[in-house]
Amino acid sequence: MSRPRVVILGAGYAGLKTAKELSKKNVEADIVLVNKNDYHYESTQLHEVAAGTEPASKITFNIVDVIDTKKVEFIKDTVIKVEKDDKKVLLENNGELSYDYLVMALGFESETFGIPGVDEFSLPLVNIKTAEAAQAHLDKMLSNYQQSKNELDLSIVVCGAGFTSIEYLGEITNRIPKLAKTMNFPMDKVKITCIEAMPTLLPMFSEKLGQFGIDVLKKRGVTFKVGTPIKEIKENTVVYEENGELKEVHAHTIIWTTGVKGSHVVGESGFAERRGRVMVEKDLRVEGYSDIFMIGDVSAVMDEESGRPFPTTAQIAIKQGEAAANNLARLLNNQPTEAFTFKSLGTVASIGNNVGMGQILGGKEVKGYMGSIVKKSIINKSLLDVGTAGTLLKKGRFDYYH
Ligand code: FAD
Ligand code: NAD
Repeated sequence: MSRPRVVILGAGYAGLKTAKELSKKNVEADIVLVNKNDYHYESTQLHEVAAGTEPASKITFNIVDVIDTKKVEFIKDTVIKVEKDDKKVLLENNGELSYDYLVMALGFESETFGIPGVDEFSLPLVNIKTAEAAQAHLDKMLSNYQQSKNELDLSIVVCGAGFTSIEYLGEITNRIPKLAKTMNFPMDKVKITCIEAMPTLLPMFSEKLGQFGIDVLKKRGVTFKVGTPIKEIKENTVVYEENGELKEVHAHTIIWTTGVKGSHVVGESGFAERRGRVMVEKDLRVEGYSDIFMIGDVSAVMDEESGRPFPTTAQIAIKQGEAAANNLARLLNNQPTEAFTFKSLGTVASIGNNVGMGQILGGKEVKGYMGSIVKKSIINKSLLDVGTAGTLLKKGRFDYYH
């Protein structure tokens, strides 16, 4: 009898962790990992690449360097669709791939909410390609100014004020003053606007902690518009609503960071989803499909305490990867699966290189330089979870001081 085949789709935090953990369990199964690139990227650091404060090489590594290739077959390909009733995956280049067990971990995409003009006229931060494109665009606009003297070249609008936006603003406000010297543009003409739909900024933190972060960014020159939902993006223009009136702000760089949804492959494969996320059962499998696990940003796991799904984070994605590997091993050994449990270790956001803020275990708040050290330690722990100690050393991640 042939060995069962476990296929893992996506080598982000969730998928890569599953592959690594499952390969350590010596199961009698063939393990196949599929990812569209031959590298893993740390999605948690995309804002640094987008702002140009770190190169892509600092947050990427080759997948085959961190998996046991004797136990895991890696296929570089793009998943088109899962034919779940026939137990097969349709790949862009390699045709069909059949499975006995499937782990869907295809991660997140930009959420446009159907707002007109977003795809045409703004720049998302969702993978290495889009982050590098945002960086190249920003640098081009800033350097244009010397010739054009068009102040819109120095105008940047960041759409939304969630964590991604705040972390991106932290990076660009660190870097732009340095670029002003080399590219020779006047800092007093730089205009950075952040437009948020909700009436409160950073509502997940205490008022004092949220205000700390906002004050840091305001001091660095960011203007916040709050309670002002964006209605349309036009060429070099963001249209938002304020007190019932439509208003416009103009800029040559428009960054779209108003949230994420799960991979479109989830919906196209016919799963019952909302914004690309499937509400999973307690053991992370999909209702009605005992052969399919759904983990990471394509899944929704109910937090019994709050009565709402946990926010999608790398932290929970890694824990789900561990749990999926454990449950797969149990199934392969004819044992019952176990329920997934998750306790958040807290949330910390960076505001550029030396400042951070957040809440850690026990509700303790950290901010400023200490916040930045905590944030860097968390990111290093995640890198160690999906990479190896060698990856951490190669990426030079112990520089907490500059
Ligand atoms: P992903 O990391 O999105 O990985 C999905 C993988 O699947 C990728 O390798 C992708 O290339 C591949 N893939 C996608 N589609 C296909 C396809 N069709 N075929 C083949 N392969 C495909 N979370 C935290 O906990 N802490 C943080 O500090 C933090 N900071 C963040 C900062 C930013 C700027 C952003 C955008 C997010 C941040 N998050 C953070 C959230 C976190 O990055 C995500 O929750 C996490 O990446 C989800 O992991 P995942 O494995 O589900 O998906
Ligand atoms: P988000 O959904 O957390 O934030 C998006 C923001 O955009 C929200 O404040 C929302 O109100 C706003 N928005 C939505 N539509 C808008 C509109 N039309 N006009 C103006 N504003 C609008 O998304 P994100 O920041 O991309 O984060 C995605 C996920 O990744 C979250 O789960 C987050 O917790 C996680 N993340 C975590 C960290 C961290 O832990 N440091 C950093 C980045 C992202």
